[in-house]
Amino acid sequence: VFAPPNSNAETDIRQMVALAKEMLAGEQPCAIGVSFGGPVDHDRGLVHLSHHVPGWENIRLSSLLETKLSAPVLIDNDANVAALGEHRYGAGRGYQTLLYVTVSTGVGGGWIINGQPWRGHENMAGEIGHTVVDPQGPRCLCGKRGCVERFASGRYIAQDVREELSASPGKGEILRALVQDQIASIDTKLIAEAAARGDDLAIEALKTAARALGVGIGNAANLINPPLILLGGGVTKTGDIFWEGVRQGARMTSLPEIHFEIEPAGLGDDAPLWGAIALVENYLANSMTQSA
Ligand SMILES: [Zn+2]
Repeated sequence: VFAPPNSNAETDIRQMVALAKEMLAGEQPCAIGVSFGGPVDHDRGLVHLSHHVPGWENIRLSSLLETKLSAPVLIDNDANVAALGEHRYGAGRGYQTLLYVTVSTGVGGGWIINGQPWRGHENMAGEIGHTVVDPQGPRCLCGKRGCVERFASGRYIAQDVREELSASPGKGEILRALVQDQIASIDTKLIAEAAARGDDLAIEALKTAARALGVGIGNAANLINPPLILLGGGVTKTGDIFWEGVRQGARMTSLPEIHFEIEPAGLGDDAPLWGAIALVENYLANSMTQSA
């Protein structure tokens, strides 16, 4: 569900239910899968909070939706759900273990380990965005310094570029011309375009972001040794400079005995939708085993 501006948990839930009812058109679903953009407790069907929309603190989303839609509801964090979608239907098919990383406004991640989602003991596994690559680095919105997200997320790439343009009048000539000095309008898409045209500042920004993400991925690879890391999200569409930087950073950080591929995710923005289907399939398979 796309949240309109000024939305809150209540308006979000109302819209969710309305869309679901419209889509169902009177049909009775056997179960419903929900991908939520924020930390959730999968087992209890509980949303902890949303970082973007107010009012989501400790909402029992699954029981709320169960009452309104009369079917079992499974919820999980969007990065976990996307990992599941990529594993079952996307670029991760055939792999037993993989890490999925989404790099857009923020940086999130989800693990599939031995064919199953790995959520961790508090459902917080996969938070590669807040692994630290520079403890003395700039402050991240989570309160810590030098997180992967602080360098590699679209929000911070654009913020750093805007600040650098204001601070260094001699740099970023191509980017300046591209945005006609409307520095506030700069986003990763414009930075990618400027980088492709050879802009020094834009290239440097993408390299810095990519290197930080690569270091985070290399460390994750050292810990879990996955054969595949899939990257999705808008920032991964910024081009070869970004992808080369990520692969270099990861190679630099991981042990020589550790081998993995870093590849684009296959399902794009639809990964969480496919993952929600997989959540339901897992639930149905489990309930059949239990009743057998
Ligand atoms: Zn952080």
